[in-house]
Amino acid sequence: MNIQPGNIVVLGAGESGIGTAILAQKMGWKVWVSDAGKIKQEHQQKLNELEAGWEQEKHSEEKILTADLVVKSPGIPDSAPLILAIKAKGISIISEIEFGGYYCKAKTICITGSNGKTTTTLWLHHILRKAGLNVGLAGNIGHSFAKQLAENDFDLYVLEISSFQLDDMIDFRADISILTNITPDHLDRYNYEMQNYVNSKFRVIQNQRKEDWFIYNADDPIIATEIEKRKPTMRCAPFSIKQEIKQGAFASNEQLIININKQFNMSIHELALKGKHNTQNALAAGIAARILEIRKDVVRESLQDFTNVEHRLEFVAKVNGIEFINDSKATNINSAWFALESMDKPTVWIVGGVDKGNDYSELLALVKDKVKAIICLGTDNQKIIETFQGSVEKIVEAKSAGEAVAFGYRLASKEETVLLSPACASFDLFENYEDRGNQFKNAVRSL
Ligand code: ADP
Repeated sequence: MNIQPGNIVVLGAGESGIGTAILAQKMGWKVWVSDAGKIKQEHQQKLNELEAGWEQEKHSEEKILTADLVVKSPGIPDSAPLILAIKAKGISIISEIEFGGYYCKAKTICITGSNGKTTTTLWLHHILRKAGLNVGLAGNIGHSFAKQLAENDFDLYVLEISSFQLDDMIDFRADISILTNITPDHLDRYNYEMQNYVNSKFRVIQNQRKEDWFIYNADDPIIATEIEKRKPTMRCAPFSIKQEIKQGAFASNEQLIININKQFNMSIHELALKGKHNTQNALAAGIAARILEIRKDVVRESLQDFTNVEHRLEFVAKVNGIEFINDSKATNINSAWFALESMDKPTVWIVGGVDKGNDYSELLALVKDKVKAIICLGTDNQKIIETFQGSVEKIVEAKSAGEAVAFGYRLASKEETVLLSPACASFDLFENYEDRGNQFKNAVRSL
């Protein structure tokens, strides 16, 4: 890839777009930022300070097509007419992470997967910080990678990478890659072809050299099939909660064992986060830490004292003996599966929103076992009602977080749980999953 600075067009002026503009300007590119929506006031100000050109609420195609390089926000689909026009003209389109990679001298650990990315990324970052490393946190989380490259001098980055970012990564190489799992998600952006989505996730290992590391979930059937097909040649460190692993990590007899640079073990009851999925996240983060030769006592302590971020199986309150849990970040079937699986009391389940191609029947057995009532929280609940009718005592529909919480309070009894774990995106009734989680928590607190 030729990285001689020329005209760069940045599509989308969110966190990653502004970060790209900052780095590009510093590296001598002529920057033009274009956003089809309104650009936040503070971002407008930053662009003016940089003396970068920009426009909002439109894309001037003629101007954009004069670019030497386009960096596009992961939110813009490949099928957008503007993207098709840019491609037709033979202009390269890349992601912010790819662009940052051109100027990155630090080591990178890239974490992807359908679920568990944020938790694993933050957990690993926590371990490395506690070990005293000069480590940055970027990607889908926190400040933009490009911005930090322009303004900081980290030795190492832990990067959370979504499949949309991976799609526009070409030459980027991770020193350590982590693939947490692959289950159907975002299929609307992949022509409803699961293999396209799988291929996108596997881009995380593209360009890795023999001496780099690939950490992956050996229990995931899709990953196992792909490994069989692709026969990766870098060093591999799988993890499992079902079988013993010689080079990698596993959980067995309530022990977590990491076989990298001598054996490390601790009780899974000491882990800061509960549930099988979090044991998997701890195994993945633990392997990466041991590859980086972090001392065992630091790894142990950091696996014990990590605190998770909001909206992930977050305990909200107990009201008259009814426990309310906010898992608003569960935006697909697999994450809701793990949430339901970890319920140990009869549960009233709040589910629904924008369905990204869900097959709810995968949850049927768990629902029959754990769920007493369902509260649909979406504008179109037909699929949910059809799947679960007859399997639970009651199904009701709510049109707001407040209404859903009120139903939950009425339908659950003492020593039962009301769980918001929607298995869907939130855009029909809420701004985003944080807004959905916050409205839920506020409604619970004002019961
Ligand atoms: P991501 O960043 O990939 O969306 P998060 O760590 O934010 O992942 O978690 C998203 C949802 O998935 C939450 O509901 C969480 O409880 C659940 N989850 C976390 N880790 C895993 C895992 N390894 N497998 C399945 N579900 C998980």
